[in-house]
Amino acid sequence: MAETKIIDGKAFAENLCGQIAAEVGALKPHGIPGLAVVLVGEDPASAVYVRNKARQTIAAGMNSFEHRLPASLSEDNLIALIGQLNRDHSVHGILVQLPLPPQISADKVLAAIDPTKDVDGFHVVNAGRLATGLPALVPCTPLGCTMLLKSIIPNMRGLKAVVIGRSNIVGKPMAQLLLQQDCTVVMAHSRTRNIAEECRQADILIAAVGRPQMIRGNWIKPGAAVIDVGINRVDGGNGKSKLVGDVAFDEALGIAGYITPVPGGVGPMTIACLLQNTVTAFKAQRLTQA
Ligand code: NDP
Repeated sequence: MAETKIIDGKAFAENLCGQIAAEVGALKPHGIPGLAVVLVGEDPASAVYVRNKARQTIAAGMNSFEHRLPASLSEDNLIALIGQLNRDHSVHGILVQLPLPPQISADKVLAAIDPTKDVDGFHVVNAGRLATGLPALVPCTPLGCTMLLKSIIPNMRGLKAVVIGRSNIVGKPMAQLLLQQDCTVVMAHSRTRNIAEECRQADILIAAVGRPQMIRGNWIKPGAAVIDVGINRVDGGNGKSKLVGDVAFDEALGIAGYITPVPGGVGPMTIACLLQNTVTAFKAQRLTQA
């Protein structure tokens, strides 16, 4: 049985955050990057994410502006707040925590964010720029996956990459980033025929489905790099719940060349890339205006 190397996303993200903090320090003569995070309602998981984002933003030496609003907030009022943040020169990045309550259209709210402050990379302008090869703010999770991949496979040219999942947040931008690396990309989804067979041909396999351990060991090409984006809470068997990915991790060991664990793989990279995007947005706003 060949050895599978486990990609330590937590250590990679800690290192990246250290580099970001150093860059923020060096940028001080130009000002301090500021990230505004907007949370509507009291979804407990979202509240934890927002708290972590604020903590890490401050730890990197940046300003964090938290806006916690009631679940009853109207769409107009949220869009008015976005307009205010767009005009605020101390705010360089704006993140609206999803999901939003049913009375608010996420599409309308995301479209209201100034694309130069869109650190989540969800605005159609950034999606279009990414798809056409222009500089863009790129969604954090696929950006983090790409960084992990580059650390193990510096040259991905010609490799076959299979991305399972076609969401605007993960799957589609992930496929664009792999195309930029000259991979031959296949996008699989819930209507794909013979999905296991598609996966077996992948030198790089990205699972972004949201189905616990759907990708079995015998779907993986020996030696492949497997990036597991899925975060699924399942019964831990001891009266407690636990987190698992979209890949059957134990089955993948000894087959995959590399794999990201869940937790501790892609997850920590997402917040680190949010900080990185905030610095990128700051530099584009401040340094190009000078
Ligand atoms: P979505 O629900 O938006 O998309 C899921 C995708 O998986 C869809 O394209 C869907 O296909 C596809 N899919 C669903 N079932 C199957 C199936 N049986 N076979 C093949 N494809 C299937 O999810 P997200 O992209 O937002 O997230 C995916 C996972 O990644 C989730 O577990 C989420 O929690 C996790 N995640 C993790 C992050 C991190 O920081 N680590 C950040 C963001 C997400 P179709 O389009 O045909 O319906």
